[in-house]
Amino acid sequence: MTSRQHPAPTEPSDGALLFDFGGTLDADGVRWAVRFHEAYRAAGGSLPLPTFEAHFRRSDAALAELPRIRAMGFRQMVEAQAALLLRLVDDGAALDAGRIADGFHAESLAAVRRNRLLLAALLPRPLGVVSNFTGNLERCLEELELAPLFAVACDSTVIGCCKPDARIFRTALEGLTATAGDAWMVGDNFEADVRPAAALGMRTCWLAPAERPMPADGVATMRAARLSDFLALVA
Ligand SMILES: [Mg+2]
Repeated sequence: MTSRQHPAPTEPSDGALLFDFGGTLDADGVRWAVRFHEAYRAAGGSLPLPTFEAHFRRSDAALAELPRIRAMGFRQMVEAQAALLLRLVDDGAALDAGRIADGFHAESLAAVRRNRLLLAALLPRPLGVVSNFTGNLERCLEELELAPLFAVACDSTVIGCCKPDARIFRTALEGLTATAGDAWMVGDNFEADVRPAAALGMRTCWLAPAERPMPADGVATMRAARLSDFLALVA
């Protein structure tokens, strides 16, 4: 892990910590499109990532429109997205949506189990989630046994605005009775998580594989290849 400009907190046990969900709590800086693509290829799919990702974005939009989406937990949502994806992807192969969902889900659970223990060790420090989600973030956190750890969970669909809008971060900070200057935001999407939080005066940690380049017009941020690296630092 490398640090740029922002110092490590001088009082490591103080201050609120806000986390993105997808790619942050369920994977080390790898976005869902990439992880779904890996599961799709493992199940026999042949499309390259750029082609697949266009379909994935459409499946994201379709997922958000499902009438039952707000009631879905994590497993059910992953299954629904895998089924939507296979309806959109036409690569000539007869693929099993269940197998794709199983692969994605198993990998997510492994990351969540590891992160759950590390996050629990930070309590009673105020922890929150800020996510561009589909109205069922709370249900997903409950299913993954993460809900008890987070005093605040801001779901963009519920709040009515998405990252990078500053309002969703302010809502989370207010929920934790925290000020931006005393809080961290941790996430894998530089433009949605890091840049807007830094603009509010929060310390930030960009979760990204070491080889991923910083945007040319990036802001000062810590970066970590694994969430566990960051959590060990602030523990
Ligand atoms: Mg993310």
